[in-house]
Amino acid sequence: MKIVFATSEANPYIKSGGLADVLGSLPKSLVQKGHECAVILPKYQDMKLADTIEYVASYDIWVGWRKCYCGVFKAEYDGVTYYFIDNEQYFRRPGLYGYDDDNERFAFFDFAVLELLSHIDLKPDVLSLHDWQTAMIAALYKERYAYYEYYNDIKITFTIHNIAYQGKCDPNLLSDHFGLDNYLYYNGNCRNDGCFNMMKAAIFYSDAVTTVSPTYAQEILTDEFGEGLQNILQMRRHDLYGILNGIDYDTINPSTDPQIVKHFDKATVHQNKPINKAELQKECGLPVNPDVPLIGIVTRLTWQKGLDLIINRMEELMKRDVQVVVLGAGDLKYEEPLKAIAAYHNQKISMNLKYDFGLSCRIYAGCDMFLMPSLFEPCGLSQMMSLRYGTIPIVRETGGLKDSVEAYNEFENTGTGFSFKNYNAHEMMDTIDYALRVYNDKEKWNGLIDRAMDAKLDWDKSADAYLKVFNSLLG
Ligand code: ADP
Repeated sequence: MKIVFATSEANPYIKSGGLADVLGSLPKSLVQKGHECAVILPKYQDMKLADTIEYVASYDIWVGWRKCYCGVFKAEYDGVTYYFIDNEQYFRRPGLYGYDDDNERFAFFDFAVLELLSHIDLKPDVLSLHDWQTAMIAALYKERYAYYEYYNDIKITFTIHNIAYQGKCDPNLLSDHFGLDNYLYYNGNCRNDGCFNMMKAAIFYSDAVTTVSPTYAQEILTDEFGEGLQNILQMRRHDLYGILNGIDYDTINPSTDPQIVKHFDKATVHQNKPINKAELQKECGLPVNPDVPLIGIVTRLTWQKGLDLIINRMEELMKRDVQVVVLGAGDLKYEEPLKAIAAYHNQKISMNLKYDFGLSCRIYAGCDMFLMPSLFEPCGLSQMMSLRYGTIPIVRETGGLKDSVEAYNEFENTGTGFSFKNYNAHEMMDTIDYALRVYNDKEKWNGLIDRAMDAKLDWDKSADAYLKVFNSLLG
């Protein structure tokens, strides 16, 4: 099968969040299963491409009424072909998102993806789209491109990585940016709540819609989690699939990770994890003490990630015999109170308000516990990484957190982490206290570590689930 992925970010080239991890590892896994995969993404200024890429073509394309230059470069990585769409007006800037003209930048990218297919004869069986930035490809394909012979019979799938970001905008952009008739706004195909809504359009036009965990697939059908799209999702519920993301076991691997001090696997975790813990305590300016439980937090600082609960209970947590390492960047609203608490408890909290890949790996490797009390979590990769590194997650039972962390059962000695149900600071604190009690029973705690490291959360099963969806579309 030939599968082309269109995405705004993908490892190893550019990453702002979990989307890049998925697009870096799902295509690779499908290639290993004998399929042909290509990934198309913008050529951003921040990519370190150097000599690794090769020029493919350049031509002009239309974006609404605009005639735009479109350059194409390519690279091979792990058996996957990556195509980079070049246009300096749109992508020669720092970072990935957050510009006033993001809608126009990704409208350009959407056209560029569809044009590329015929320009270099890359017609896929399945065109797999990801999040709002590529959502309008589904509408453009069904309303325009599918009528040209070359484009016939491509199946379109759309994956929701986070329904909170939908690409809501002014209805006029439908014709101005996408050259589509305003009728598609008025008939509701591209409209939601009085806005032109790109994600709504993708849910409407795609042949199948997937999201990144079975629990999230159920949650987004409800008023509480659907972010206004629950009705269209209800309408498409027979074509909606929840497939848990995996993580790349080759790169996320404590026995080879170049970022950590002492490698380990399941056989050596109990000897070597304490060495990583001591080094992390040193690196973070915390007293080196093997006995004090060390809790890690690696996150974007946004409301989604449960920062309100963490900030609410941090003073209380400081009354316990614990250390906390926080690595996060994002909203000042959360950075400021976290900084204030950390300044007061600098022997117990290490606050690292930045994006730092190396430190994130050392936190996964060196901590005893990993706290992730998300308000909602489509899938979440951080809890899977901590499991892989034998670091016990403490999570709220939502979305992929519920699907990937099995709650500890002290009577049957089962489970891989600790979880609580309601978005409630006291429930979170009670669950942390429970984890701290179990931590003091070394036999039980080591059992948890062993089961966490046994959890199989790689792409093998998940890639098969994607193939099943693709095959069902291709008949
Ligand atoms: P999301 O995509 O919603 O941010 P995920 O848990 O799916 O959440 O993925 C987050 C990814 O980004 C993980 O690989 C995590 O380690 C990484 N990450 C998040 N914040 C930071 C940070 N400040 N520094 C380094 N890595 C980070």
